[in-house]
Amino acid sequence: AVSIQLVQCGKTFPNGAQALQPLDLEIQPGETVVLLGPSGCGKTTTLRMIAGLEFPDAGGRVLFGGEDVTALPIERRGVGMVFQNYALFPNMTVGENIAYGLKIRKIPAAERLAKIETLLEMVHLQGLGQRRIDQLSGGQKQRVALARALAVEPRVLLLDEPLTALDAKLRETLRADLNQLLRKLGITAIYVTHDQSEAMALGDRVVVMERGKIAQIGSPRDIYYRPATHFVADFIGTMNRVTGTAQDGQLRFSGGALPFSGASAESTATLMFRPEDVEVVTDSMDAADMQGAVLSTFFLGDRTRLVIDVGAEQPVIVETGKRVSWQIGERIALRVPQHALLHFGEGVPA
Ligand code: ADP
Ligand code: MG
Repeated sequence: AVSIQLVQCGKTFPNGAQALQPLDLEIQPGETVVLLGPSGCGKTTTLRMIAGLEFPDAGGRVLFGGEDVTALPIERRGVGMVFQNYALFPNMTVGENIAYGLKIRKIPAAERLAKIETLLEMVHLQGLGQRRIDQLSGGQKQRVALARALAVEPRVLLLDEPLTALDAKLRETLRADLNQLLRKLGITAIYVTHDQSEAMALGDRVVVMERGKIAQIGSPRDIYYRPATHFVADFIGTMNRVTGTAQDGQLRFSGGALPFSGASAESTATLMFRPEDVEVVTDSMDAADMQGAVLSTFFLGDRTRLVIDVGAEQPVIVETGKRVSWQIGERIALRVPQHALLHFGEGVPA
C-alpha cells in the first residue's frame, strides 16, 4: 500500500470559484480516510485532485509514496475510482465491465476470465458475469463498479459517495461489506460522503471539511467526543447547547446550573453535550443539574428521544434506553456527567 500526501493543495476554478483553500493532508499506507462535509465543501474536488482528474493551483503538490505525481494524469497514477452514479458501460455485461481495464492493458482473455471470477466472488456477485447491467439492482451495480475499480490492482481506491443513491437497508449491507473488503485488501482508500454515520463506520480517520477547508482530522471517536469547532460539533451527531451566565463555578440558567469555571463572572457562555450522555434522574432530585417540562417524546424502539424545556435558549434533547414513557408537560430532572460537557472559548466545564 502507498501513502498519499497533499501539500498546500488549493483549487480555484477558471470561473473564479475557490473550491479549496490550500490544504495539507497525509494519508498512511493502507489507511481508509473519509472526507466528510456538507454539499459544496470541496470533497469531490479534493478526491479528483488525488485522482489526477483535477490539478491543484500553482504551488500545490500531490505525492504517492513520496513520489511527486502532481503532473501525472489519472491513467498514470494507479488509482481505481467508484462514483455515486456507477458510471458502468450499459451495453456490456457485468464481466465485460469488470474486465474493461484489463482488456485495455492487453491482458490475455483466459487471464481476464479468471480475474473476473475472483473479483465477482470478492464483491459477492458469483455467477453474474453474463448479466446485462440493466438487469442489476442499484446495489449490484455498485458492486460491479467496485470490482471494476479493483480489477487493475490500483495503488489507491477512491470512492465518491458510492452508497448515496441506495436505500437505507442496502446502504448498511454494502457499507459492512465494503468495510470488510477494505480491511482485507489493505489498500489505501479515500471515501467521500456527506453522511456522518457512514464516515464513522468506515473511516480509520475522518477529515471534516467546511467551505473549502479542513475543520478537523481525527478518529471517529475524536471527532465525535472531542469536536474542534462548533461546526464539527453540530455536523457530527446531535449536540445540545445550553447558554447561561457564569457565576461561582457554575453556568446558570433558569432551569438549573452546570459546573463551569474560569470565565469572568456574569459573562455569557454555552456548554454542549450529547443527548445520550444526559441521565434522567428518578431518585434524588439533589443529584439533578437541571429540570424542565417534556415538550415532546419520540419512541425510537431501542431508545426514546425526549425534548425538554429547561428554560435555556433552546430545549435539551435527551436519548435514553429506559423503558419508561413520559407524558407531554411532565416535569423531569436531568443530570449531565462532567466528562460529557464541552465548551469552546473562555472558561472550562469544572
Ligand atoms: P462537494 O463534493 O463537497 O459537494 P465539490 O468539490 O463538488 O463539493 O465543489 C466545491 C465547490 O466548488 C462548490 O462550490 C462547487 O460549486 C465548486 N465547483 C466544483 N467543480 C467546479 C467546476 N468545475 N467549476 C466551477 N466550480 C466548481
Ligand atoms: Mg461531491
